[in-house]
Amino acid sequence: MAKRGDGGPKTKPCFKCAAPTEVAYRVRYDATKAWAFVCPACLMGVKVGNPHYAYGGTWKGSRH
Ligand SMILES: [Zn+2]
Repeated sequence: MAKRGDGGPKTKPCFKCAAPTEVAYRVRYDATKAWAFVCPACLMGVKVGNPHYAYGGTWKGSRH
């Protein structure tokens, strides 16, 4: 068993604010139906009042 020593949890850049986030929500947000990852803080910004919004799962960089 190899243990990874990469020094901490992985992150993804939020597509809205570009901040690295350890928990990202996979969402569709427009008519192109492209998937994007957003941080929790930006989720409401793409969700509320958006007819194209769809939820595709939660990505977590850290595992327990
Ligand atoms: Zn964000």
